[in-house]
Amino acid sequence: MARLLTFAEIRAGRITRLSLEALSRCREIARQRRGSTVAVAIVSDNPLAHFEELARYGAEEVFAVTDTVFASATRTPRSAPLTAALAGVIKQAVPDVVVLPSEESVKEILGALAIRVFAPALPDVSGFDVLDGAVKAQRPVFTAGFMAHVRAEGAPVLVSLRAGSYAACQNPEPSSMRIRNVPFAFDEKVAGKTLRKVVKAASGRIDLSETSVVVAAGRGVRDEKGKRLIEELAALLGAAVGASRGAIEAGLFPPSSLIGQTGKTVSPDVYIAVGISGALQHVAGMSGSRTVIAINKDADAPVFRHATYGIAGDLYEVLPAFTEALKQKASTGD
Ligand SMILES: Cc1cc2nc3c(=O)[nH]c(=O)nc-3n(C[C@H](O)[C@H](O)[C@H](O)COP(=O)(O)OP(=O)(O)OC[C@H]3O[C@@H](n4cnc5c(N)ncnc54)[C@H](O)[C@@H]3O)c2cc1C
Repeated sequence: MARLLTFAEIRAGRITRLSLEALSRCREIARQRRGSTVAVAIVSDNPLAHFEELARYGAEEVFAVTDTVFASATRTPRSAPLTAALAGVIKQAVPDVVVLPSEESVKEILGALAIRVFAPALPDVSGFDVLDGAVKAQRPVFTAGFMAHVRAEGAPVLVSLRAGSYAACQNPEPSSMRIRNVPFAFDEKVAGKTLRKVVKAASGRIDLSETSVVVAAGRGVRDEKGKRLIEELAALLGAAVGASRGAIEAGLFPPSSLIGQTGKTVSPDVYIAVGISGALQHVAGMSGSRTVIAINKDADAPVFRHATYGIAGDLYEVLPAFTEALKQKASTGD
């Protein structure tokens, strides 16, 4: 039996996919360990708006922290109030394991939260199991070249989960959900910081970490024509555009689209790597993708080792043929 607590991160008014993946994994563990319970912490100016979705994904209990400091327009950076709010929930919920989605916000506070609740933390794991009084997990290290097997004992143990480690599945047998309001009072002066401006990297782009299809460009995409081919394919598929360091250095794509060790980690259903060699530092950010399609003119490029399907050819010939075939398929409705 284990009391599991997870955290629903809200971005752009929606619970993130990674949070739903963490919740789904908790439900799976609860099913395996009889008598276990799954609770969710939600921290927002309006948690009520998300209760229905949490119930659909199998939350049995919700610990809601309501405060305007968590509204998107607030001038206070979220890390200090978020740490305080989650510490308050943990105190009230008394969980055995706390599973946090490894979102940027969580990465920022995990250490502080662990100290605050005096608990061991296993950051950025790609899989975990709950034992009696302990958690064992695995975590990719050295740019995903090795897998570290780690174990922590305590109550609670904090775990942060990487994107794409588990599927987000709705609960086929929804049950009733209890709501608990957690008292919260935060003095903004204590934060000691003021948020002066939030700069959007790009408007109208699909969020890389939330999408199910990514078209990623590498240095092989060498000009505006290549960029247009990438964007056309992405638009047809409703995909987000990502890039390797090579493509960003060439100045064709914004740094916010970087995927890899020093960029974003993505785990879409389909990842299309175009003109990307497959360096370890890039692969570290996309190895959780379910299906990888690689297009590269060098048949020996390392990227093919990570590909489900590979096309050895010039992207300037392959992409127009690919998009044309997709358009025809769409027009005939096949
Ligand atoms: C500490 C550190 C951190 C790093 N972090 C990252 C990171 O987060 N993300 C990242 O991406 N990189 C990162 N890098 C850089 C990484 O090592 C590689 O240099 C980079 O990923 C290479 O980008 P690329 O594959 O686009 O370019 P290249 O390695 O130059 O490969 C270009 C590929 O395009 C193919 N090609 C060329 N023309 C065509 C064509 N017409 N049609 C089809 N294929 C074509 C070539 O055959 C080649 O395989 C990091 C490096 C270091 C040292």
